[in-house]
Amino acid sequence: MTIRIAVPNKGRLEAPTQELLRKAGLQFEKTDRALSVPVANVDLELLFVRTEDVCELVADGVAAMGITGLDLLAESGSELDVLVELGFGRCRLVAAVPADSAITSLDELAEKRVATSHVRTTGAFFAAKNMPITTVPLRGSVEVAPKLDVADAIVDLVSSGSTLMVNGLRPIVTLLESEAVLVSDPQIDSPIVAQTATMLRAVVAGRRNRYVLMNAPGDRIEAIEEIIPGVDAPSIVPLAHNGMVAIHSVVPSADLWSVLPRLEAAGATGILVLPIEQMIP
Ligand code: AMP
Repeated sequence: MTIRIAVPNKGRLEAPTQELLRKAGLQFEKTDRALSVPVANVDLELLFVRTEDVCELVADGVAAMGITGLDLLAESGSELDVLVELGFGRCRLVAAVPADSAITSLDELAEKRVATSHVRTTGAFFAAKNMPITTVPLRGSVEVAPKLDVADAIVDLVSSGSTLMVNGLRPIVTLLESEAVLVSDPQIDSPIVAQTATMLRAVVAGRRNRYVLMNAPGDRIEAIEEIIPGVDAPSIVPLAHNGMVAIHSVVPSADLWSVLPRLEAAGATGILVLPIEQMIP
């Protein structure tokens, strides 16, 4: 039986999901209207669906796995496994009030009307704090609810927070941190699901790291090794002349800013930083 993976057919997770699947080595041709497409090199079918329907379809067994936002997994209430955190679609589910509201703390939201499209997550968050609220379910344009006086506060997704500001809203508390995730049905035991998880994890790890090569005098190895421990240890290869060595290592992308100047100061020359397509530590 062909295994299916449900993926977003539009919206902000669509393009990064397809790019990730291609980087992971899946070969497919997506036409605009196709609802499902076969993968040419793996016994796998991509099912293009609304981002918010992914969890439901995986829970129902229509697809063995899916890619969606962690916020939507929480909101669906489905008991799915999160196999890989994919590092894109990052956002926060926050409670916010109009900038001129008297409410300044979480406690003051008790008994208030809260507009949201994340009804389940919002209800569970306030119930866990023993704070009764009235949820006002809205499918979209949640941020206008206080202006229309249908709510005192909202719970909505933000990434930078600039949309909140533009709409004259002030954040009070974060309910959930979200990013795109690979989810699967816990009942499914399929080598293709395990392989997909491994390959997506490899791309995500590759994106977070860089391959760094440099030359250095042999007597600088120890000093350099302290700066770049690498995945296990750096590879060190003797060069043909002058007691020089080539050192290869993997460095988290976020650390390059501080690591490269220190390598240079420690005597490294000819430092090259290369992207990593995939990485399995
Ligand atoms: P869509 O509505 O199809 O564009 O996708 C919405 C999903 O994208 C959400 O459920 C989140 O997982 C994710 N997302 C990432 N950043 C944001 C954001 N700033 N606003 C809304 N959704 C976001």
